[in-house]
Amino acid sequence: MSQITAAQAVPVDCLPGFRLRKDAADALNRASAAFGKRLLVTGTWRSLETQERIFRERYHQGNLTHRLGYTTDVRYWKGSPWTRRQGTAPAAVPGTSNHGGGCAIDVKTRREKGDPGYDTHVIFSSFNDADRIAFLKAAKPHGWADDEGRSVLECWHLTYYPERDTHAISANNGQANSTKTPAPPKPMTSKNAAASPATPAPVAVPINKTANNGQAKSSTAPIRRTTVRSGSTGTDAKYAQQRLNAHGAKLKVDAKFGANSVLATKAFQRKHGLTPDGIIGTSTWKKLG
Ligand SMILES: [Zn+2]
Repeated sequence: MSQITAAQAVPVDCLPGFRLRKDAADALNRASAAFGKRLLVTGTWRSLETQERIFRERYHQGNLTHRLGYTTDVRYWKGSPWTRRQGTAPAAVPGTSNHGGGCAIDVKTRREKGDPGYDTHVIFSSFNDADRIAFLKAAKPHGWADDEGRSVLECWHLTYYPERDTHAISANNGQANSTKTPAPPKPMTSKNAAASPATPAPVAVPINKTANNGQAKSSTAPIRRTTVRSGSTGTDAKYAQQRLNAHGAKLKVDAKFGANSVLATKAFQRKHGLTPDGIIGTSTWKKLG
């Protein structure tokens, strides 16, 4: 991955204040729109200077593996070994990271004071985080994946793979990258294709397959319902209650997803072979319809 300059990194609409390589930024915007929420991140593109600063904060020159306060993580940079200090996260050798190439992001693993809420923004609390799993599913056709993050055991790190981006519009001919036709919109992802990622559609809108004709356009990307869980309120919580009732529950439709709603969700999930966690993410939405 070759390092790009600040001028080559463009601002990312769905991540205000952060920059990525243009194709990676476009793809992430599409992935966020498809997911229906935005990500909270700690980092995206990093200048070489920033990478060096981070590396020097975490690694000290020499093989210090046997010294107190050091890990066994040794990397080679500028012709010598560097050992990572205990209590610091791994960092790539400067100039070798996909962050430098503007093709990687690090998602927050903890929500911070002042961050926007669950209804619009997600974090990745672990590899098994339901939002993480749902985001990766939505992001896959747009070339964003966690292969690299998995290989280094960093649940927060995602990478853009342009060759996998089936929705990318090439500069030359305006055609999608792949000869493969993108998968048709799924019912639950097509409530309102034009809604912004932060404001999921309030009501079900019939699928209009002719509207985008299977073409990739960020403005017509299908949108997902937001994840609904204990304490969720608003449009999607209300819609979830209506759908649960349609499947036999007897909930008061008050747009407040409380204990009864969670119980009804668990019962529904058991009945449909889903993990009964009471959280309505992608797979449960799919079955709820
Ligand atoms: Zn990273």
